[in-house]
Amino acid sequence: MACAALVLRALTTSSDRRTLAVRHLPGTMVAMAWSKNTSAGDPIVSHSGAVLSRPVAFRFALDLTAEQSQRCFMFAGARRLAYNHHLARVKKNLERRAKELDAGLGCDELTPSPSWSKVSFINEFNAYKTGRTKDSPVNADGTRGLAWREEVSADVFECASVDAAAALKNYRESATGARKGRRVGFPRFAAKHRDTPRFRLRSKCRPGETAPIRFVGARTLRVPKLGELRISGSGKKIARMIAAGRFHVYSASFTYSAGRWFVALTGVAAELHPARRSLKGRHPSTVGVDRGVKSLLVAADASGALVASFEEMNTLRCAEQRLKRANQALARTKPGSAGRKKAKARLARLHGEIARKRRHVTHEASLALARGTRRLALEDLHVAGMVRNRHLARSLSDAALGELGRQLTYKAAWYGTELVLVERFYPSSKTCSRCGSVKEQLSLSTRVYACEHCGLELDRDVNAAINLARWPGARAATASPKTAAA
Ligand SMILES: [Zn+2]
Repeated sequence: MACAALVLRALTTSSDRRTLAVRHLPGTMVAMAWSKNTSAGDPIVSHSGAVLSRPVAFRFALDLTAEQSQRCFMFAGARRLAYNHHLARVKKNLERRAKELDAGLGCDELTPSPSWSKVSFINEFNAYKTGRTKDSPVNADGTRGLAWREEVSADVFECASVDAAAALKNYRESATGARKGRRVGFPRFAAKHRDTPRFRLRSKCRPGETAPIRFVGARTLRVPKLGELRISGSGKKIARMIAAGRFHVYSASFTYSAGRWFVALTGVAAELHPARRSLKGRHPSTVGVDRGVKSLLVAADASGALVASFEEMNTLRCAEQRLKRANQALARTKPGSAGRKKAKARLARLHGEIARKRRHVTHEASLALARGTRRLALEDLHVAGMVRNRHLARSLSDAALGELGRQLTYKAAWYGTELVLVERFYPSSKTCSRCGSVKEQLSLSTRVYACEHCGLELDRDVNAAINLARWPGARAATASPKTAAA
């Protein structure tokens, strides 16, 4: 597993090398930030008096019984049904209005368009599932509505309605120009063969009350209508945080990926303890971080000292052989056969394993940097644009640049580390870190920076990291709240 081993050259001295043996257990708990802006409005204060202002999500793999897993699939199917129901309803209305317009009807004569608000979507689906709308399904016994609705948590339908309303809002705002960025089309229907099985449940309660979604043991999560779910790994830390009023769960998002169910508990947490935000003992000067293609990242300071380097993170390339074999095995199977089903599952597991490894290494790297430095200078890469370039796409996605930038952004905020975003067109790679001369061209395949003027020969990523640490604009630009990955 040499490829997965992460080499961290810690804090300036090269003798202080240690290898972090990263275990890629599926049950590894990962804390991450989620993007909802909670700064608007009053912060939540927990029953213990802690101010909960830090949006966090904790993700666990689940060890479900066959019955629980089946139930989760049922919930996911219910979500898909509700989501598609809203899209179909809106689409039908839009098409009808377009036809009427073509037929020469005036604007006030058109079929009225239904409200696209979250609340009206929730109400509409409630009416639909209980048989109170014209298009409610009719059952064999003559009753109307969804016969199985009681078996699924009502929250699944509500969250799906909220999701559909949000997707349609993006579409409308993009069409009218109110939304920036790439054009958003009409939301795609959640097809069974394509959509990741997933659903969300909210944990509606005030801080301090008994939460509907809660830990009843270190490894047991209690969820309404699903019962007691066993998590892989330990939830002790989170359970303790909840009990102490330092974490409040908003919702639980369930996803099925690579043959396994996962749950992410999303909520708000208290700030880290001041001792963990202390800048004492951290690297004293600005540290430039170059997010390389070959290595995951290289960090160096303005004096030219290498601070940390996370190398050879090409997990995808490393697993390529195994992926290739799994793909070949799949190609040899007959369509519709049991063998194909098995080969497909194996391939999915492999992809899942790679994604997990990548996520883990990225988290380790971003955490080490956010905790070990006072000030980070990071290139403001236009990742979305780069990944569209097909030749670069694979390496770049592999290095998960955008994800790294995102993680560094929120972890820096957690640990009180200042983050400087270096403007995109600053030639950090092409500049010589010794004499300052700038090269016209530097191809991506050139791994060593060789200066024609002063004869400097240095690893290209280290050279770039040093330049980032020295970025002259750093003094003016203080930590920007926008994410580095945007
Ligand atoms: Zn030079």
